[in-house]
Amino acid sequence: MPDIRLLSEGIFEITKGKRQLATLNLDPGKVVYGEKLISVEGVEYRTWDPRRSKLGAMVLKKFNIPLSKDSKVLYLGAASGTTVSHVSDIIPEGAVYAVEFAPRSMRDFIGLASRRKNIFPILSDAGKPGSYAHIVEPVDLIFQDVAQPNQAEIAARNAARFLNKGGYLLFSIKARSIDTAASPKEIFKGEVKKLEQAFESRFEILAARDLMPYHEDHLGVLAKLKE
Ligand code: SAM
Repeated sequence: MPDIRLLSEGIFEITKGKRQLATLNLDPGKVVYGEKLISVEGVEYRTWDPRRSKLGAMVLKKFNIPLSKDSKVLYLGAASGTTVSHVSDIIPEGAVYAVEFAPRSMRDFIGLASRRKNIFPILSDAGKPGSYAHIVEPVDLIFQDVAQPNQAEIAARNAARFLNKGGYLLFSIKARSIDTAASPKEIFKGEVKKLEQAFESRFEILAARDLMPYHEDHLGVLAKLKE
């Protein structure tokens, strides 16, 4: 019998030979990106690959993940939904509004979203939050993984429009999207500063850690919008 440990609400570590991150499968019998399904006493889990998911890596890097079963989430940079599928598992009674601007990724993503009631796919530019303001409700968490040079600005604009006071921003910063010459450390410092400035220091940075060994030259940041 595999050993199952709860790491955070809706997030598990399953040891069956090796240790694996997992979520409860909201769509039993279906896989999304080739992950494994593990059934234990009638409950089906989906393994979660931290090398394919910045959020998965953040869990293993001991970020406190502020999600609960009814969270409202705005997810920027959904791609074809690898990580969004795990967010959907974690918040069975909540909603994840997932923005992606590449039509090709969106095509695959729509297939996934049509099978899960809590995913709302939005084909749009995350830099223009006004274009989806009629769809998205105020949220408890914004997760951003867009790998763009203006990523801090994109996060700030979306937070200003949609994030509840006391809400959280979980943010993956890709150093090489910003500057290929400067050192990742300098880039990370600059990005965190930009975020603080955009909010006149209303964001409290709770954690900032690199995502090694799962993602090279990436920094994860968890910030809280002060009440
Ligand atoms: N978060 C995804 C996951 O874990 O499954 C991977 C995201 S991938 C690193 C970055 C995605 O952000 C790409 O699919 C890209 O098309 C999208 N993206 C980049 N800039 C964007 C923007 N301004 N608006 C919407 N999507 C954007």
